[in-house]
Formats: sequence, C-alpha cells, structure tokens
Amino acid sequence: MKTHPFRLVLQTLALMLGFLLLSQAQSSKTIPADTIVLHGRVYTGNAKQPWAQAVAIRGAKIVAVGSDIEVERMRAEGTKIIDAAGRLVLPGFVDSHIHFMDGSLSLGRVNLEGAKDASDIQQRLREYASNHSGDGWILGRGWNYAMFGPEALPHKKYLDEIFPNRPVFLEGYDGHTYWANSKALALAGITRETPDPPNGAIVRDPKSGEATGALKESAQDLVAKMVPKPSRAEKLLALRAGIKWANEHGLTRVHSAGGDSEALDLYDELRRHGDLTLRFYIAYFLDPPRLRPQDLEAIENARKKFHDDWIDAGAVKFMVDGVVESHTAAMLEPYTDDSSLKGKLFWEPSNYKSAVSELDKRGLQFFTHAIGEYGVRTALDAYENAEEHNHTRDRRPRIEHIETIAPADIPRFGKLGIIASMQPLHSYPDSNTLNVWARNVGPDRASRAWSWKSISDAGGRLAFGSDWPVVTLNPWEGVQTAVTRQTTDGKPEAGFVPGQRLTVAQVIEGYTLGAAFAGRREKSEGSLEVGKLADLIVVSQNVLEIVPQKLADTKVLTTIVGGKLVYQLEAK
Ligand SMILES: [Zn+2]
Repeated sequence: MKTHPFRLVLQTLALMLGFLLLSQAQSSKTIPADTIVLHGRVYTGNAKQPWAQAVAIRGAKIVAVGSDIEVERMRAEGTKIIDAAGRLVLPGFVDSHIHFMDGSLSLGRVNLEGAKDASDIQQRLREYASNHSGDGWILGRGWNYAMFGPEALPHKKYLDEIFPNRPVFLEGYDGHTYWANSKALALAGITRETPDPPNGAIVRDPKSGEATGALKESAQDLVAKMVPKPSRAEKLLALRAGIKWANEHGLTRVHSAGGDSEALDLYDELRRHGDLTLRFYIAYFLDPPRLRPQDLEAIENARKKFHDDWIDAGAVKFMVDGVVESHTAAMLEPYTDDSSLKGKLFWEPSNYKSAVSELDKRGLQFFTHAIGEYGVRTALDAYENAEEHNHTRDRRPRIEHIETIAPADIPRFGKLGIIASMQPLHSYPDSNTLNVWARNVGPDRASRAWSWKSISDAGGRLAFGSDWPVVTLNPWEGVQTAVTRQTTDGKPEAGFVPGQRLTVAQVIEGYTLGAAFAGRREKSEGSLEVGKLADLIVVSQNVLEIVPQKLADTKVLTTIVGGKLVYQLEAK
C-alpha cells in the first residue's frame, strides 16, 4: 500500500504532539496535585533532604517535597490545601508491635491501667458493673503486678467480695497472667485437682492447694474458653473504633504480632467498605511445639491472598518465652529474687530452629517474642543458623521485646542484620518496673534493661511499637520514655539506666523509617520522598526542639494515609 504524502505529514505531526504530551506528563510540575500540605516544618526522614516546607500528593503517593513556592506550582482549581501553619510535619508513625483486635475489643471493657491498688481496682469494677448490669461476664484488662504489693500477684478474694455470683476475668497489662474470681473458676471447672496445662500454671494457695485466681500463661485458656465470643458484627464495630483511635494518635500502619491473622477477612471487609484507613502487616501466630503442615498451609494461603500496601500477611510470630514479672521469661542464670526459678522456653530449641529454617527458605519474615536473655539468645542462634543453611540474605528477622540481654549478644543484631523491635513504654520506670521487674532480674541484668542504644550503637536497626493493649497505642508517651528513661513526673531523677537514652530524632526514626525497614517497606514508606506513599501527620509541637519532659503532650492535628485525610483535630 502506498502512503499519501499528506497523510505522512499528519502522522508526523501526531507523533510530535504525542511526544510533547508525554514530556509534559513526565514533568510532574505541570500536572496538578490532589492535595498540597503548605507552610509546614516538614521533617522528611530523608537524609538527602531532611527539611522542607511543603508536600504535594497525587493519588496515594507523594509527587513533590520542597519549598512552598516549588510545591505551590502544582496547585490547580481542584487541589485540596492543608495549611500546616508552621507546625511540624512528620512521616506517619508505624506501631511495630500491636495486637489490634485485642486492643480494639478492650476499648469497650474495664480499663484498669493506672489503678493504684486492689481497692482502686474494686472501685473501677463497681463503676463498670453499675453501667453494665446483669449477670454476664465482666471482662477487662490492665492491672499490673505492683498493684498487689510485694506478693505481686492478684487474688480472687478481692473480686469475690464484690462479685460473688458474676464471673469476672481480668487480663494483666502484659497479657501473660490473668485474674479470675471464684465464679469464673467454677464455670471453668478449675478445682484443686486440675493439673497445670503445658506452658502454664494455676497459682495455688500453698496451704490449701486451692486456686488463688491468678493464672499464668496458657492456664488462662481454661477460663478464656468459657467466655462468650464476640460476634462478627461486634468485632467489626470494635475494629472501626480501634482504627479511628490509631489514626487519632498519628498511626498510619501497624505490625500485628498476634491475634489478627484469624481476622484477615474482617480487615478485608473493612477495606471493601472503604473503611480501612490504617495499613496492616499481620503475622501468623505459630504455637509450639512444632510447625505443622496445616500451619504452613494457613501461612501460605494468607500470604498469597494478602500482600499489598494495605493488608500484608507475610510474617510469622513465635513466642519463645514469657515475662519477667511472673518469672516465665527464660534466663541464662536463675532469677535474683528466687534462685529456684530460671523460666523456661516455650519452644524446644531444635523444633524452633527447624521451624525458623523451613519458613526462612520460603521467604517469610519472623517476629520472635523473647524477653529473657536465654530467650533472646535462642532466637539469635536460630536466625543465624537459618541464614547459614539457606544462604538467605536481607531477611531481616526480628526479635520482639528484648527486655534483658547478655552483653555478648548485643553486637549480634548489627552483625547478623537482625531487627530489635522494642516497646519504649514497657521500660516506663514506675513501681512495676522498679519494684517487681528490676527486683526479679537483679542489678546486673537490670543494668542492661531495654538496651536499645547499645544495640543501635553496635549497628542494629531499631523499630518501635506499643504492644497495645499492653500499654496505650499513643506513641508519644513511648517517645518521651525512650528519650528520658523517666516517668512523666521525672522519676528516677537520674533516669532508669540513663546510658540507654536516645535522641528524639533516633526515636522518631524507630517509629518511621526504622519501622518501615522492619516491615520490609522502606522503599515505599517511612519517609517523605517523591514516589513514596503519602502517609504523613501534622503535630501540635516541634518535638525536635521542646524539652523532653513535654514530648508526651504532643497532639496529632492531622493524619493523612495514602493521600486521604483520615483525621483532623477539631478546633476547640
Ligand atoms: Zn505482644
């Protein structure tokens, strides 16, 4: 076929026009932004451009970071303007260790956080019961060991006094010990003869042998299985409230460390309704004693189905030991307050090692709960072994908590590329930490309590989180604790192991870029850079300049997730 000369000219012209349009599209400045944040003090978290004034967003992503003038060029008629009014703008915060469903459900239950003693607890329970009458279960959480004096464990008598006929079941703040009254124990069929379950203990009166109401670790399942389960609708309602609560505190992503992989379809349902305004990285909780074929199937199916920016299921959670307060954290040497106790591992080390190795081969990431120094070493050894055997690189396995550590293990985080996922507020030096935790581990181990600075100085990467509902998900209280190592009223004066204090910038990194790295998402999240997801917050004060004692007062004014405004503090 012959080509007409005129047609050739037209084709050439069309081609040239196409090039012109294409080159315009590539220069993003000429295409308007959907949203522009102006007049901010933008702390980007990007080392190449640490500060800016403005951020432009198109769709879910950041398309410009720069001065007001530069970014304003992308403003058009439909562009939404958010005036940061000179306030600090930060990357969205990530909570690297959370139990989101449990936390969300706890919002509607008795909250015992901050109670002074047993009678204060009774007062709160009476109040709750007067608003929730009937004979149904009273559920709640948040008591701590120090509330019961030197005994450091709750007793059913305090509950029986006010609720002789109504079952009461209260989770300790750490989720490792529960407290039941006589009615709840009776419904669960717990008697003097009931044996301790594996990895758990029914605390008994030394004289009568009767259960005291304190249930350690897996012993709580005996009562928990009697508690009516919340319905699907109740769970969805709770999750909506939890997500709102998280956005209000500046969280744009959470890493779930247990209790959420069973709820993946609920998160998916929220997404289908357009109600998901928080990103979820969700670990499958793998119970001991070993990795079973049905676990593998569940893990692989979840990962296949959920692996995008909003819901990602590519991780596995292990729990190798318990907690210090109830002597269930596994130590290399006996506890200082009771030399007959050392704690013990929940996993037989060789089973744990082979489960880690098998899952590592498949490219999964691990979160291992390890609080005692022996627990921490066991996790480090298993990770090292997996890397050597599988020749895997950059897997970034994580250890969660690391409350105590042997000196020789501190440099292994940096050397092996293992992430330290820690919860600053767990080190909050109140009476629970100073009188129970520190007493149990003794002065030598306490001198390395929550050694985040030593781990970081030796090249280890830090990721911070809350462990909500163990403590509040409000990250600002955690920021202050990591910086001051003091209570909000300045105790102890010299700080609790003050050598482990971090700078505000280091702590922010632990909640942003460090957390993104720990979730294997630093290429698309964690800092404010062109091409990354538009997850950012505006806060009430410049946390990089104020006195550290005021850090916890920080309020989030605006939260943007994926370019969408999901929270804005109402002006009073
Ligand atoms: Zn946890």
